[in-house]
Amino acid sequence: MQNPVFRLGMVFGSVDVFRKAVRAHAVKHRRLVKFKKNDRDGIMAVCKAECCEWFVFASWLGDHKTFKIKSLNDKHTCAMSFKNRFVSSKHIAEKYVGQWRENLD
Ligand SMILES: [Zn+2]
Repeated sequence: MQNPVFRLGMVFGSVDVFRKAVRAHAVKHRRLVKFKKNDRDGIMAVCKAECCEWFVFASWLGDHKTFKIKSLNDKHTCAMSFKNRFVSSKHIAEKYVGQWRENLD
């Protein structure tokens, strides 16, 4: 989850896990990403840069237990951004709490 690499057919156990992976990917690659379609059937995440065609779309399989990447373009053509609203206190806590517990100094 620190550096997710998206592939066609990749499956997730829930929408939340997928959204978390997209956020982690955006932070890791220093890109601004937004969720476009967010209904019961699927979610489209796109790059916020107008010139960039990066996107990932995932939706439920028929069993509604498996959330699967159905299409994507994983090449960003935009420039990196050094501002990212996904770097929240929650994200930082999840990423570093293990290290901080092991090394209190
Ligand atoms: Zn981009």
